[in-house]
Formats: sequence, structure tokens, C-alpha cells
Amino acid sequence: MLIDTHGRIATDLRVSLTDRCNLRCTYCMPEEGLRWLPKPELLTDDEIVRMVSIAVTELGVTEVRFTGGEPLLRPGLVGIVERCAALEPRPRISLTTNGIGLARTAEALRTAGLDRVNVSLDTLNPEIFRTLTRRDRHHDVLAGLTAAHDAGLTPVKVNTVLMRGVNDDEAADLLAWALLHDFELRFIEQMPLDAQHGWQRGDMVTAAEILEKLSARFTLTPEASSVRGSAPAERWLVDGGPARVGVIASVTRPFCRTCDRTRLTADGQVRDCLFAREESDLRAVLRSGASDRQIADRWRTAMWGKKPGSGLDDPSFLQPQRPMSAIGG
Ligand code: SAM
Ligand code: SF4
Repeated sequence: MLIDTHGRIATDLRVSLTDRCNLRCTYCMPEEGLRWLPKPELLTDDEIVRMVSIAVTELGVTEVRFTGGEPLLRPGLVGIVERCAALEPRPRISLTTNGIGLARTAEALRTAGLDRVNVSLDTLNPEIFRTLTRRDRHHDVLAGLTAAHDAGLTPVKVNTVLMRGVNDDEAADLLAWALLHDFELRFIEQMPLDAQHGWQRGDMVTAAEILEKLSARFTLTPEASSVRGSAPAERWLVDGGPARVGVIASVTRPFCRTCDRTRLTADGQVRDCLFAREESDLRAVLRSGASDRQIADRWRTAMWGKKPGSGLDDPSFLQPQRPMSAIGG
């Protein structure tokens, strides 16, 4: 298994399928985009499936989430999901997406074996969406959400980042909308992972503020099983339940002590943390003709030295070289 010196065991694998994206969310990417990884550096579909297979069969990974960049931009996505769903033991498979194009692919993804989907949506207002993502695609995201729900990719979760003076007045409206459509809403505190390095702690809308805004309209009760475990979201029952809302307070209430994540970038680097400043080049090992066992050993070594925490509260904290879109959020 993937254990580290602090006794944490990683069973949840995040795989970035591409660093590219068709949106330019201000908290993630600059308007002009980024210098994308050259194709030969990207893992091929076969290489991705092999890495997932090693993770599942040799290293005890039970959850696989595909992300990016925008994973729906990866032409082979449906095939990758299908092959991963055929692995023994079968991992649970999910996708984090901006939802653009999901209306076309939700059904095929479900048939291929995708279990669940998280769709990112920060606003109910198409104009604010355009300012925030620098693209006029609000309608496509809503269509994607409906299609995901219709295809049974449930519970459909919606990821929302609130920004002060932009969409922070929408917290309660977003929750009312999510309840109406049977989506599970999760707010994510903005993290210092933007390519522009513009994040300021003081600008961030904190979990405490979000809860205060929601409590003005809804009664929130901590979920009975509110032992957070390794799940990053703390969850509350809304107006007595069964509907819930989550808050991922990566900055103000970090969950590093119970972290169970391991990450694979689109160019085959293993990262033990979103905020890690070091990576292990498994692509080189893979392409050198190594056996599954050898690759698994290198992966174990990569995870063993995982730091106890993100270091966000340390005055010497330095943002990782790669932005969120290239790590795989
Ligand atoms: N493109 C897909 C999407 O937007 O869902 C997947 C990749 S995106 C990097 C994954 C998640 O990270 C999204 O929910 C997005 O809102 C979130 N995200 C991106 N930059 C962030 C930041 N600086 N702080 C917090 N969350 C961020
Ligand atoms: Fe693209 Fe997702 Fe980053 Fe937005 S958050 S720019 S959709 S990768």
C-alpha cells in the first residue's frame, strides 16, 4: 500500500488527463492560458490505464478521480474510464469537470462505468460566469449538470469557489438552486494555486464566512457522522436533511492529518500533495521498460516522504511551481 512516515495510507488517486482547459477561471489561469505540455510528454491512454491498474492492483487504491485541466477535452476519456472500470478489484471512478461537453458525453461515460461526477459552477448569473471564466458558456454547464443527473451519475456534486465582491453574495442562492435540482453543493476555499500567483489570504472567503451566509437562510446541522475521516468536505444537513451542503476548508481548517490522496499529473509525475514542491518522475520509469512491480516500488517511495501538512500556515510557505490546472485539482 501507499503509506507515509506519518502513518497515512493513500487510497484515493487523482489523475490529471490534460493541463489544457476551455475556460480561464480567474482564480486558476491567466486570460492567455498557459504553456501547455507538449503531446509526447503526456501519458498515452494505455500508459494512464497501466498506471491506474498498478495503483489498484498493487498499491491498494480504491478511488480514482479523473481531472485536469479539463478532462472532457481528452479524446480517449470514455475508453480510459471503461478500461479502468474493468480492473479487479474495481475502483470507484469519478470525474471533476467544468461540465462543458458533458451534455453530449454523460450517458456514454455512465455506460463506460463512471460512477459520479463533480461539476464546477461558481455562479447562477451568466454575466458573472463570463467575467469569472472569461467564456460565455454558462448555458453549457447547466446543460451538462442536467445530463449528468439524468444519466444517473449521482449524487451530482457542484464545486463552488466564492470570491469576495464577485460571487460571494450568491452562497445562499446557490444552495437553494442546488436543493431544487438535487445537486450536492460544496464550497471550496480559494487556495494559492493560481498560475498568476495572485492569491491573498485576506481576499479569501473563509469557511466561517460561508457558513454564516448560509445560516442566514438555512438551518445547518453538522452531519451526524461528522467525523470528517479522510473526506475533505465537512458536511451539514440543510433544514434537517436529507439534503446536505459541504465546505472544503483547505486553508482555514486543513485536513492533512487524515489525507488519503496520491496524485498523477498528465505527464506522469507522482505528487504526494497538492502543495508539494517535489514530484517523482514515474513516466521515465514507465518508459524505461520497468515492470509493474518496479513502478509500484517507485510510487511507494514517492509517497513515503509525504510532509505532515500543506505548510500553508508557515510564513516560509512557497506556492508550488505548477498551478492547480497542471497538477489536477
Ligand atoms: N476543469 C475542471 C473543473 O473546473 O472542475 C477540473 C480541474 S479544476 C482545477 C478542479 C477544481 O479546482 C474546480 O472545482 C475548481 O473550481 C477548483 N479550483 C481551481 N483553482 C482553484 C483555487 N485556486 N482554489 C480553490 N479551488 C480551485
Ligand atoms: Fe479550467 Fe477548471 Fe481551471 Fe476553470 S478551474 S480554468 S475550468 S481547469
